[in-house]
Amino acid sequence: MSLLTVGSVAFDALETPFGKTDKIIGGSGTYITLSASYFTQENNLVAVVGDDFPHTMINDFNQHGINTEGLQVRAGEKTFFWSGRYHNDMNSRDTLETQLNVMEDFDPIIPDSYQNCQYLMLGNTAPAIQQTVIERLKNRPKLIMLDTMNLWINIANPDLMSVLKLVDILVVNDEEARQLTHEYSLVRAAARIHAMGPKTVIIKKGEHGALLFGEGRIFFAPALPLEEVFDPTGAGDTFAGGFIGYLAKTDDTSFDNMKRAIIYGSAMASFCVEKFGAERIMNLTEAEIQDRVSEFVKLSAFGLE
Ligand code: AMP
Repeated sequence: MSLLTVGSVAFDALETPFGKTDKIIGGSGTYITLSASYFTQENNLVAVVGDDFPHTMINDFNQHGINTEGLQVRAGEKTFFWSGRYHNDMNSRDTLETQLNVMEDFDPIIPDSYQNCQYLMLGNTAPAIQQTVIERLKNRPKLIMLDTMNLWINIANPDLMSVLKLVDILVVNDEEARQLTHEYSLVRAAARIHAMGPKTVIIKKGEHGALLFGEGRIFFAPALPLEEVFDPTGAGDTFAGGFIGYLAKTDDTSFDNMKRAIIYGSAMASFCVEKFGAERIMNLTEAEIQDRVSEFVKLSAFGLE
């Protein structure tokens, strides 16, 4: 089934305890579509960049089967820029700088060829942009998933509440879930988010895995304990791309299939953190992904069934 992803395509500057990068390619849309490309055949991207964005990267998107007809390249303007610094535990980070540049007045134009997409992933962008995308689709997709962050919870809360009414799944990290709901318990936080609109809620807990809430049920997926974590940037988006890519591939939105999708998403995220930026998820094989999924199965199997 076809997937439409809307998100940022960016330059990032990162500092982790293991090193520093000046300006590498990042963005929510980049990580989501690259990750989903290992699952879906029809992978459509809507985003905006400036003419400082390398053509080679657009070619790389296309090499991964990502349709870039909806990627606007604005002459004379600069690509979105974000920089962040990780704390020593790598589970938390500070945003050092956000330069919206082309994202400031991004108008998400949906090409006709994307109109009949069945799966929609609204990556991290302003909630008003996310809602515009939903309104511009002539038919409602079968499944709409939305990611957001602390910035939008703080500065665009009414817009966020408005778009949340329209989506099926919200994916956030534990800190964002607590900030959004003012509940410490993640079970209570998920219940409050259900009341805001999404019938399914995914709460990511970084190196401590992810929780899935839906149909009155809870599922927990661990994260793979890794010897080396270089850079967690994009892990959340890579997780989301693997999750929705798997759902689109199998075209099954039941809770039981979402449990499998969470494991595929977690497997993809475990690759992402092994290198800086998106480098690792640009060069994966099917066999590597399957091996990783098998490691997840072994990790928590204890033979009681
Ligand atoms: P993640 O580590 O999965 O939360 O995603 C990191 C990516 O989010 C980086 O590559 C950034 O370029 C992108 N990002 C950070 N802030 C924003 C923002 N305000 N809007 C859109 N994308 C952002």
